[in-house]
Amino acid sequence: MMILIFPPVAKPCEPPAGVALLSAALKEQGIGCCVVDANVEGLMYLIHSVKEPIDSWSQRALKNRDKIIGDLKDPALYKNMDRYHQRVYDLNKLLSISVDSKRFRITLSDYSDNKLSSVNSKDLLKSAEIYHENPFYPYFEKELKPQISSMDSEFIGISLCYLNQALVSFALAGWIKDNFKDKKLVMGGGLISSWMSRPDFDDPFKDLIDVMIKGEGEQPLLELMGKKNIEKRHYVPDYDFIKQDLYLSPGKILPFRATIGCYWSKCRFCPEKAETRPYSSQRATKVLDDVKNMAKAYQPDVIHFIDNAVTPAFMKTLSQEDSGFKWYGFVRFEKEFLSASFCRDLKKNGCEMLKLGLESGDQGVLDQMNKGTDLDMVSATLKNLHGAGILTFVYLLFGTSFEDEKAAFKTLEFVEAHKDYINYLNMAVFNLPKFSDDALDLDTQEFYHGDLSLYLNFNHPHGWDRRKVKNFLDKTFKKRAFSNGKIKRNPAFFSSNHAMFF
Ligand code: SF4
Repeated sequence: MMILIFPPVAKPCEPPAGVALLSAALKEQGIGCCVVDANVEGLMYLIHSVKEPIDSWSQRALKNRDKIIGDLKDPALYKNMDRYHQRVYDLNKLLSISVDSKRFRITLSDYSDNKLSSVNSKDLLKSAEIYHENPFYPYFEKELKPQISSMDSEFIGISLCYLNQALVSFALAGWIKDNFKDKKLVMGGGLISSWMSRPDFDDPFKDLIDVMIKGEGEQPLLELMGKKNIEKRHYVPDYDFIKQDLYLSPGKILPFRATIGCYWSKCRFCPEKAETRPYSSQRATKVLDDVKNMAKAYQPDVIHFIDNAVTPAFMKTLSQEDSGFKWYGFVRFEKEFLSASFCRDLKKNGCEMLKLGLESGDQGVLDQMNKGTDLDMVSATLKNLHGAGILTFVYLLFGTSFEDEKAAFKTLEFVEAHKDYINYLNMAVFNLPKFSDDALDLDTQEFYHGDLSLYLNFNHPHGWDRRKVKNFLDKTFKKRAFSNGKIKRNPAFFSSNHAMFF
C-alpha cells in the first residue's frame, strides 16, 4: 500500500495528473494506493479557517465566502471577467489573512516565505525541521493525520512538481518523519527531477527522504513495491481520489497526458531540451481509447491535454469523431492548421482552445531558436483557428540572447497585425536554464542565491537586458497590444486554466 500526496501550492482548479498516473500504475499491479490532493484540501482549509476580518474588504469576503466559492464553480460567473476577478481577489484576500502575512505570501497560485528560500537546500531542510511554523501545519494535524493514520502503508510519496510547492513539501516531510516514524518517505515529481538532473546534484536530502525519484515515477515506484521489469509507460489516470466539488472551476476538468516528453525537443531555450527526457508516445487510436475510458469512468466536462505539444496524429484522430468531451491543450504551429476544414472539424469535435508557443514575431529570432516555425504559417493558422471558433492563447518569450529591441518591436507589430485572431496572450521574460548549451556561450551570473537554482542571469549580447525588456513590456507592448480590447485580459491566478470558459 502506498499513500501519494500532492502538496500545496498549485492552482486548485483541477486534480493533479502525476499522482493519478502513479496510482493507476500501482493499482494495475494489485498494489493499493491512496492519493491525497493536499493542495486543494489545504487551500480550502486555510480559506475556511479565517474567523476575524481585518478590514472592510475581508469583512465582505468573509460574509460571502460560500457564495464566492460557489460562484467560481458556476459557468454564469464566466460571462463577466470583472465579476470573476472580484471573486478571485476576494478569495485570495481570505487566503492572505489566514496566515502571518508579514512572513508568508500565499495566493491561489503562489507560496513564499520571507525567511526561507525554495531553491536553497538548507532552507528546505529547515522548513522540514520547523514544520510547526508552516501555515499548513494545522491542516496536516487536523485533516491529513486522520487520513494517514487510517491507512496501513509502509511508504508515503510526495509529488513535488512546482517551486511553489517546495517549502510546504519539505515541511510536510518533516511532519511525517516526526509523526509517523514507521513510514518511509519517497519524493519525486517535475521539480525533483530537474534538481536531480543537475550535473552537480549531491542529494542534500538523504537524511530526510528515504528514496528520491528522477523522471517518470511509475517504474521506480513499482520496483520499490517489489514489481520488477514492468516496461509499461502509458497509463489511464486514476482519479478515484477526487472529492466532489472541491476544485474551483465551472465544470469538471481532468488532465490527461497523451505523450511523455516533447516530439520536437529542439527549441534551444527550452528546459525540456536541457533535461533530455526521452520522448514516448502511443498509437493515436490507442490514446483516444484511453481518453474515452477515462471520460467514461469520470464524466469530465473538459479534458486538459497536458502534453508539451499534442501531436498532429492525435489531433487528426480527435478531429474525426465526436468523443463527447471538450478539450484544450498546447500544440505547435503545424501544417495541419493550414486547412480551414481541419480546424472546423477540430472545433466540431470538442476543441475549445489551443495554446500556441509563438515566442517571437521575428523570423530571424525563431530560426536561431530552432523553433521550426514559419511566420506565414502562423498567420494562416491563427486566422483558420479563429474562423473555426477555437480560442487561441499565444505564448511569447522576450529577452532571449537571439532577440534585440528591434526584434521585440517586430513581435509587437506581428501581434498588432493579428489582434483579431488572438484571444489571449502570455508574455514571459526569458530565464536561462543553468545547464543548457547556450549558457556555455554567455557571460552569466547566479540569478537566485540558492544551490538548487535552475536559472542564470546573463549579460545580454545586444544589451537587451531584463530591465529593458520589462520596461518595454510594461510601457510599450502591453499598451499597444491590448489597446482596443480585442485581446482579452488573462484570468487572474488561473490564467489559461480558466481562459476557455470566457
Ligand atoms: S516545442 Fe515546446 S516543449 Fe518542445 S522543445 Fe520547443 S519549447 Fe520545448
